[in-house]
Amino acid sequence: MTMPALMPVYPRCDVRPVRGEGCYLISEDGRRFLDFASGIAVNLLGHGHPHLTQAIQQQAATLMHVSNLYGSPQGEALAARLVEATFADTVFFTNSGAEAVECAIKTARRYHFANGQPERTTLIAFKNAFHGRTLGTISATDQDKMRGGFEPLLPGFRYAPFDDLAAAEALIDETTAGFLVEPIQGEGGIRPASDAFLQGLRRLCDEHGLLLVLDEVQCGVGRTGALYAHELYGVTPDIMATAKGIGGGFPMGACLATAEAAKGMTFGTHGSTYGGNPLAMAAGSAVLDVVLAPGFLETVKASGERLRGAIEQLLPNHDHLFESVRGKGLMLGIKCKSDSRAFVAHARDHHGLLLVGAGENVVRVLPPLVIEQSHIDEFVEKLSEAARTYAPPSDD
Ligand SMILES: *Cc1c(COP(=O)(O)O)cnc(C)c1O
Repeated sequence: MTMPALMPVYPRCDVRPVRGEGCYLISEDGRRFLDFASGIAVNLLGHGHPHLTQAIQQQAATLMHVSNLYGSPQGEALAARLVEATFADTVFFTNSGAEAVECAIKTARRYHFANGQPERTTLIAFKNAFHGRTLGTISATDQDKMRGGFEPLLPGFRYAPFDDLAAAEALIDETTAGFLVEPIQGEGGIRPASDAFLQGLRRLCDEHGLLLVLDEVQCGVGRTGALYAHELYGVTPDIMATAKGIGGGFPMGACLATAEAAKGMTFGTHGSTYGGNPLAMAAGSAVLDVVLAPGFLETVKASGERLRGAIEQLLPNHDHLFESVRGKGLMLGIKCKSDSRAFVAHARDHHGLLLVGAGENVVRVLPPLVIEQSHIDEFVEKLSEAARTYAPPSDD
């Protein structure tokens, strides 16, 4: 048996990008693609954004990495900006989304430990959730395709159906630490929580002394037109994981928490060699410069409405294929009547349009937040053509 040098855990397609230009990717063989996948909600500013690129170049030449044993003016500055812009009082920087969720889980357990209730270790998570690929984060989902063969998993998680408040409440007992939930399930199929559900979880937390832990790794950092999606629900978490878009393509994440929720996270309880290094801080800070600039989030919201309107308009012309559109801001999903991944492959290979598949036969539409009307027009043209020329694979 031959084993590729690159461990074959991804079913990689034969688009092999070598360059990015704004909202476009160019492949090894010279093909040009409209990128409405953004590295799965990562390249918020598109590819080669001058402000982000310059910040990384300059910081790389000045100071790339130092240990967290030393003081961090760069980390303090970015943490202060995030604290200023969000519910949080304190921030731990990570290198990925899964690590941000891991930190959130540890912070929640330590909170109850510090409160003298060390038996409160269980987080109630939700079916079809995605929280990452570490042992801890696959333990936090009920999805078999991510867990099979990796047992024993971590104890301390229970699962309720997503958006079912009564089912979540029914799982609360004396071992419950809190809820771990994506305000909008991404991987699971762009499913926004209802207002009643998210607000209800907050209320249950307040009533039972539990922590609301949000996973905004995919839906955060302006993606929905709010800096964080929970703002759209009028709900404040105790702890939140963020990543993907936060570095605009540079690998980084963060766990944000209130002072109360983070009270167990004292010297020596957590750490990361790379987390929060100066290069990552420069990238994160450059992304925030753009996202927090006056008017930017309003523009995302307006682009989201225009994009959604355009999709809604073309759905009836392809009702053999598409069912509906859902999501918030520029985190949209088109529900298909057949395998969404086959359609994503067709749009990519024959129409130069990059999208992402998701659960429940949803096609994820996750463009860079900097798209203009011309990109929306081009997207509509390509999507219509792709739908018109597409023949769903037969079932047999
Ligand atoms: C992508 C994702 C993660 C995992 O992030 P990684 O950077 O791949 O570790 C966690 N939660 C959600 C909601 C995600 O979309």
